[in-house]
Amino acid sequence: MISLVIATRNLGKVKEFKEILTGLPFEVLSLLDFPQCPEIIEDGDTFQENAVIKAQALNDFTECIVLADDSGLEVDYLKGSPGVYSARFAGEGATDEENNKKLLQLMSHVPWEQRGAQFTCVIAISRPQKETVVIKGSCRGIITREPRGNMGFGYDPLFLVQEYGKTFSELGPEIKNNISHRGNAMKKAIEVLKGFVE
Ligand code: IMP
Repeated sequence: MISLVIATRNLGKVKEFKEILTGLPFEVLSLLDFPQCPEIIEDGDTFQENAVIKAQALNDFTECIVLADDSGLEVDYLKGSPGVYSARFAGEGATDEENNKKLLQLMSHVPWEQRGAQFTCVIAISRPQKETVVIKGSCRGIITREPRGNMGFGYDPLFLVQEYGKTFSELGPEIKNNISHRGNAMKKAIEVLKGFVE
């Protein structure tokens, strides 16, 4: 088995990766298995910079293959904001509700045709003595005028996928994972990881 470290402390994410990688010779570990790892400061200006910072720092520490992801929402009318600040749009430690409220307020006067946005996910995979591989996934949508649906997290209730006429929160995990920024990036990442094994 080859050790693959996921740069997260989120047990849900670890479980998801274990399921996705079933059948491949990877032992999936996470930051939870390296409690002595120093805190990694994500101070990049882009998703790519942050994903690469995390993957390379953890690769240096563990000397294993490391997969790190960074993602967020980019709203056209706000020139790509909140971007890397998605989690703390309404301030450090802000809740999803506070972030959503701020976004709706900023967009309150914006007409429907100018409410385009995208979720972007960048995955970086670092290996000892090899160049870091960077993979991107994105998903286009429209920012609604009020929250819709009760599944998911973050900006899901405000992100309407035109093809379905539903928000990510209304679509639920199965459809969301199939079309989302993270889902798209993960499909490509799995091919890259398979390539390491072959
Ligand atoms: P992370 O990089 O996956 O931790 O995501 C950073 C932030 O971007 C989250 O806290 C959310 O605010 C937002 N975000 C990223 N992915 C999603 C998603 O799939 N749905 C809703 N919000 C998301």
